Amino acid sequence: METFAIEGLPEIRGGDDLADLVDARAEFEDGDVLCLASTVVSKAEDRKADLSAFPASERAESIAGRLEAVTGEPKDPRFAQAVLEESEELLTEVPFLLAVTRFGHVTVNAGIDRSNVPGAELLLLPEDPSASADRLAAALGVPVVVTDTSGRPFRYGQRGVAVGWAGLPAARDWRGETDRDGRELDVTVQAVVDELAAAANLLTGEGGDGTPAAVVRGFEFGDHAGSDDLFRREKDDIVREALREWEFG
Ligand code: GDP
Ligand code: MN
Ligand code: MN
Ligand code: MN
Repeated sequence: METFAIEGLPEIRGGDDLADLVDARAEFEDGDVLCLASTVVSKAEDRKADLSAFPASERAESIAGRLEAVTGEPKDPRFAQAVLEESEELLTEVPFLLAVTRFGHVTVNAGIDRSNVPGAELLLLPEDPSASADRLAAALGVPVVVTDTSGRPFRYGQRGVAVGWAGLPAARDWRGETDRDGRELDVTVQAVVDELAAAANLLTGEGGDGTPAAVVRGFEFGDHAGSDDLFRREKDDIVREALREWEFG
């Protein structure tokens, strides 16, 4: 397997045809997977916003107040409002906003980003990243994974994860297959789109490199069952359940 970045993409603006821009700079082969930073998908979909677009509700004011008290840093209630509007639910309000996005991804601040966003204060995640991936995959004729940099519980550091995908299953299901001793695997479902996203993220970087797109060439899904489950459903999510009960401090 080989991974390489697509060079020479311009600063993406609202309304740009991202598929066209990528197509002009890449020669795809059979079996390629295109990984695209959600940042540029969002920019093309006009998801830049300013804080003034999010007048704070009472709830946002109260959240910002608690955050400020706990962290000792000034917090803009309009930012809390933006996170509320992008979320289905907040699992924690302090010491940070842990949100379930409308499309099921759980992440800090609903994935609202302030890095690499010229000319605006905020960049929201695509409304439905798998629908975005679908459109891009159809236009380009290759599977597409939309990635974002995200923190992890239990570990320091961030890494790339898939927030949307199309043209390949999210996971490969090893259940029922055997290990080297002939022991049957009974739980392993490998989240391949996250692993592809992490590999791509190594090349795209986090700063000013200007490489939001990477191609993974030669990845073989193999002869496994596929699954599109990536975001845990409520009934299977004991961590979400525990966080709902949890009170900070
Ligand atoms: P995120 O992980 O989706 O939040 O994206 P990042 O902000 O980490 O950026 C990932 C990569 O895309 C970095 O190499 C950035 O420099 C690059 N990048 C971000 N926006 C643009 C853009 O509009 N055009 C180009 N060419 N590169 C961009
Ligand atoms: Mn960013
Ligand atoms: Mn981001
Ligand atoms: Mn990133």
